[in-house]
Formats: sequence, structure tokens, C-alpha cells
Amino acid sequence: MLTVELYNLKEVLDLDCIFCKIAKKEIPAEIVYEDDKIIAFKDVNPASPTHILFIPKEHIESVNFLNEEHKHLIGEIFLRIKEVAKEMNIDEDGYRIVNNCGELGGQTVNHLHFHLLAGRQMQWPPG
Ligand code: 5GP
Repeated sequence: MLTVELYNLKEVLDLDCIFCKIAKKEIPAEIVYEDDKIIAFKDVNPASPTHILFIPKEHIESVNFLNEEHKHLIGEIFLRIKEVAKEMNIDEDGYRIVNNCGELGGQTVNHLHFHLLAGRQMQWPPG
């Protein structure tokens, strides 16, 4: 019982979340944008010439865990993506924004994030 409760506490605090650690600067990342609620950094294993991850600093596991209070935050993330795309001069050629949710969605890091991919022709349907 105690073990289960401690496990749940760990899940809530997300002591092991790699993106929380990046947001708290406990592990390094190439940061391209930051404010009090959002941070964006280069993907360590880029899938395209430009590959940036935008995350809320707050630990939200995935889209499945969004609620009404997150509406403004998600809107802000998309506006910051638009601004960073313009600063990086990828806005005119075009880009792709991706969110993977859950196992079948291909999510590997359980902290909500949006991929900004650019610099090559994207294919459809995605793999
Ligand atoms: P997902 O598969 O969950 O949609 O995307 C996770 C992304 O995070 C992957 O593209 C992966 O390369 C990236 N990633 C995983 N660990 C790290 C890390 O420690 N630092 C950075 N910058 N990116 C990471």
C-alpha cells in the first residue's frame, strides 16, 4: 500500500521527466525560446534540418491530460511556434507541427510537446 502511494506521488511530481529537467535547466538543451510558461529547444535526434520541441513548463503528460484551464496555454504555444518559425525564416517555405499522443500515437516522452519540423519536403500520410 505504502509502495503504491509513493509510486503515485512520484508520478504526480514527475521527478524522472526528462523534459521537466530541461525546463528546470537540470540537464542541457539548445534552447531557442523561453518565457515563464513555455520553453522550446532543439530535438536531440532531429528528424528534419529544423526540429524544435515546444513544451509547457508545467508537467502535462499528453493531450489526454488537457483541461479547460489549459486553453490559453495551448494557444500561446501555437503563437510562439509561429513566431519562432518566422525568426528562423522557415515560415514561407512551410513547416509541420506534430503532436504524438500515447503509445499508438508514437509518443515516447510523456510530457506534452509539439514538434516543429522544417527544411525538407514532408510526406503524407506520416509513418
Ligand atoms: P515523441 O516521440 O514523444 O513525440 O517525441 C520525443 C522527442 O524528444 C523525440 O524526437 C526525441 O528525439 C526527443 N528527445 C528525447 N530525449 C531528449 C533529450 O534529452 N533532449 C532533447 N533535446 N530531445 C530529446
